[in-house]
Amino acid sequence: MRHVTVDGVDVPALGFGTAGMDTDEERQKAVEAALAAGYRHIDTAQMYDSESAVGAAVEESDVAREELFVTTKLTRDNRAHEAVIDSTQNSLDRLGMEYVDLLLIHSPDQNVPHEETLDAMDELVADGLVNHIGVSNFSVEQTRNAVDHSAAPIFTNQVEYSLATHQPDLLSFCIDEDVLLTAYSPLKLGSALEDEELVAVAETHGKTVRQVAIRWLLQQPMVSTIPRSSNPDHIERNSAVFDFELADEEMRRLFGIGGGIDEELAATIGL
Ligand code: NDP
Repeated sequence: MRHVTVDGVDVPALGFGTAGMDTDEERQKAVEAALAAGYRHIDTAQMYDSESAVGAAVEESDVAREELFVTTKLTRDNRAHEAVIDSTQNSLDRLGMEYVDLLLIHSPDQNVPHEETLDAMDELVADGLVNHIGVSNFSVEQTRNAVDHSAAPIFTNQVEYSLATHQPDLLSFCIDEDVLLTAYSPLKLGSALEDEELVAVAETHGKTVRQVAIRWLLQQPMVSTIPRSSNPDHIERNSAVFDFELADEEMRRLFGIGGGIDEELAATIGL
């Protein structure tokens, strides 16, 4: 497993998402399959109703808690100071864990100032219930404000980021500021799945287009990704991305699918 080092901490670059599944049984089976396939980074959220299933799957597995990197996120209703503290404790109870590795603001909020939410999250870090804090769906400017305000470092901004939806400005910011860019919906590629360049690169390596889409993310500095699947074969296949490497020229061609990147960013990421 490849790791991304953020603020001196090694995070498994490939994680497993748990949104959008229908039942606890489906969620638990999926997380069990992911743990068996070697995933050690699990993404959940108060909003996904998947925290209990993640906890149950971890409990059933023989994976030690210290080997895992677990992220959860505060729903929109839980951004005021007391709600941050209380709802995080509830998340920990559902997970059956004494701490989460990462707690995120799920999306920007107009009602409660981010500063209030971040102050409460900082308290949770000080109390040892949360190891790191971060944000999700934040713009570059919103992320910068969070970095400037928070006592604890902003560890990640989790955003939609894929071959079809990459965000060069955010990637530059994350590299400069030592913030992890956690790429969600890496496989929701729509018509890009049939892109000729992508198909050609996949054929060259004897891999599927989705494996290339995941690998392309993992070869970018400060990027981790959290694909989701309920299908054990897909779960396994999505993790079989460490036995090949995309050439710089292939990375560049694949950046073209989402609109390309400028020469400065290409140089920064070593292309
Ligand atoms: P993904 O990009 O992970 O795509 C999931 C879809 O791809 C499912 O329909 C799945 O179907 C299919 N799929 C996965 N692997 C394969 C495969 N090998 N072959 C064919 N189909 C496949 O989408 P998500 O939106 O779920 O994003 C991933 C995670 O990111 C979420 O689960 C969640 O944890 C997080 N997220 C965070 C958000 C935020 O606001 N912070 C928003 C959205 C997501 P199947 O089950 O049949 O394999």
